[in-house]
Amino acid sequence: MARESFAIAVHGGAGAIPRTAMTGELEAEYRSGLLAALQSGHAILSAGGSSLDAVEAAVICLENNILFNAGRGSVFNHAGTHEMDASIMRGDTLQAGAVAGVSGVQNPIALARAVMEKTGFVMLCDSGAEEFARQLNMSFKPDTWFYSEFRHQQWKVAVAREETLLDHSKLETGTVGAAALDGKGNLAAATSTGGLTNKRWSRIGDSAIIGAGTYANNRTCAVSCTGYGEFFVRTVAAHEISCLMEYKGLSLDSASDAVLHQVAALGGSGGVVAVDRTGNIFTPFNSEGMYRGWQREGEPAQVRIYAEL
Ligand code: ASP
Repeated sequence: MARESFAIAVHGGAGAIPRTAMTGELEAEYRSGLLAALQSGHAILSAGGSSLDAVEAAVICLENNILFNAGRGSVFNHAGTHEMDASIMRGDTLQAGAVAGVSGVQNPIALARAVMEKTGFVMLCDSGAEEFARQLNMSFKPDTWFYSEFRHQQWKVAVAREETLLDHSKLETGTVGAAALDGKGNLAAATSTGGLTNKRWSRIGDSAIIGAGTYANNRTCAVSCTGYGEFFVRTVAAHEISCLMEYKGLSLDSASDAVLHQVAALGGSGGVVAVDRTGNIFTPFNSEGMYRGWQREGEPAQVRIYAEL
């Protein structure tokens, strides 16, 4: 079988810090965080590894980075705690795994993968998911590890204003995700988040829902979404992009734009990172910015935050 050229795209959330509030130092930190995630996935792909391993590694890198709203650095819910969602999917077998509303787990994306590979189910939630992680001896961290002063301030403002905030929008946050194609032609996608600041406890967003925030299918594409999750659930966004390609013959770009228009028409905002089965990459968004990066085989890594080309 002919070898495919590999490709990977990552995101650190839609709705970046407004340009006017971004300092040079902070921007450099975001860029290096995205680059590190891209490099961890790219290293796996260039060594002949799978897209599944690559997207998991890239997302773990971002989960461990306190700047992004996933794992460490997750936003606070209304109760002042962290509840995280994550999901992962492989495009060859359509196997998928997800966790919803988990606390204390260092890397929710690794737990989502374990659900996919070890349970025969697709999704586990809150205490049952945490118990499963303990059975697997996965790493747990105390509340202090997830705490970030920045998120805490953001939460206090949101509580005072009685608002539920998208990660980076009026204030700032940042779900993370990745989509990749490997040298064998297999696609995979992964997404992980702390959700929306001041969200109601037990609220589950698109990042935990296969088809909404995450989808991969070797016939079409791999997609990871970020934005106001309810709109991505209602449009079944990631799966819809795949369907527009498969059943209407749209390109990755046209299908992604069409779905983001659907999201916007309902009043939502956000973006996606998507890779198709031939290695095309598209990273559209309708928020002020989206932390994002991508790399194709033999080409330099690219990292962007705002609408610059
Ligand atoms: N989509 C995530 C959610 O609604 C939030 C984000 O992308 O920042 O939970």
